[in-house]
Amino acid sequence: MTFWKKRTSLLDPFGRTVDYLRVSVIDHCNLQCIYCVPPGSIPWTPKAELLTDAEIARVVRAAADLGICKVRITGGEPLVRPGLPDLIQTLSSISGIEEVSLTTNGTLLARCAQDLAAAGLKRLNISLDTLWPHRFRQITGFDGLDQVWAGITAAVSAGLSPIKLNVVVMRGINDDEVGDFATLTRGHPYQVRFIEFMPIGPTAHRWRDLFVPAEEILSRLEGAEPLTQECPEGVAHRFRLPGAAGTIGVISPMSRPFCGACTRLRLSADGYLRPCLFSGKGVDLKDPLRAGIPLRKLRLLIQSAAAAKPEGWMAKGGAIPEAVAQTMCEIGG
Ligand code: SAM
Repeated sequence: MTFWKKRTSLLDPFGRTVDYLRVSVIDHCNLQCIYCVPPGSIPWTPKAELLTDAEIARVVRAAADLGICKVRITGGEPLVRPGLPDLIQTLSSISGIEEVSLTTNGTLLARCAQDLAAAGLKRLNISLDTLWPHRFRQITGFDGLDQVWAGITAAVSAGLSPIKLNVVVMRGINDDEVGDFATLTRGHPYQVRFIEFMPIGPTAHRWRDLFVPAEEILSRLEGAEPLTQECPEGVAHRFRLPGAAGTIGVISPMSRPFCGACTRLRLSADGYLRPCLFSGKGVDLKDPLRAGIPLRKLRLLIQSAAAAKPEGWMAKGGAIPEAVAQTMCEIGG
């Protein structure tokens, strides 16, 4: 009998240790953001085509054997998937998984924040692009700002910390709110993170009009008050207003690409393991899983996805390949 000897790391061809898996649990979103999935832009994947909880857990177990230690749950809107706390509990208890985090739009968070925390969720990113109710409707197609704030409050009460608020900055849409979001960090320990708009999916053609470079975001902030620089966290350059409880981050995938430091793989809700946000669909795991693939062969498929990681699309001049006709909801943002 042969025993699997746990590897300490999953290396890509450029010597990067791949230790982070983004798991999209559903492509369906309950919002229709103008920059992501405008109304009618994609048909949702039928339930039977989505990976089951058991299939996701099997992939994460195999990935953990190879050295993946961080998992981020995303979508679509992950909280639309029934039973998410149970899945998070299962993933959190897998040997080798040190951290399970979640990216959500926050609209359904109030009712399940306690359950998520009890299930072992460690960290939470909440996407919030405006502080104005009428604008929330314009951007997302729904009246949901109060629900998001109820979700944020519930997350704080449940002890989920830090709370990161992700803001995609778009010219003429919400770029005038950069200062207001920054002000929010004065009295609350939130980590507000301004993200550059990326040309992905059906809204890619609007990129030239909507894009606001990180430098411009920063100059607006610095114009108002001196910022102190904090240690960068992951892909975010971080700053703090004088005496503020929270921090301000700027994430610049377009103007200062960070592909060279990418250590991620992405599992789509329909079971493809994608080496890079900008690569094609990736390696199909669903059919092999449903055909009863042994764990050893599943690990080989995961290794093949890591081996296919490109050095970095953006690092090589910013040409975006056609595959990014898919939306962030389909890829797993
Ligand atoms: N529904 C969840 C949410 O809203 O956080 C998770 C999925 S959503 C696709 C993940 C993230 O992708 C969100 O923070 C969203 O703002 C970001 N996103 C979507 N399209 C984007 C784009 N074109 N450029 C930059 N970020 C984008």
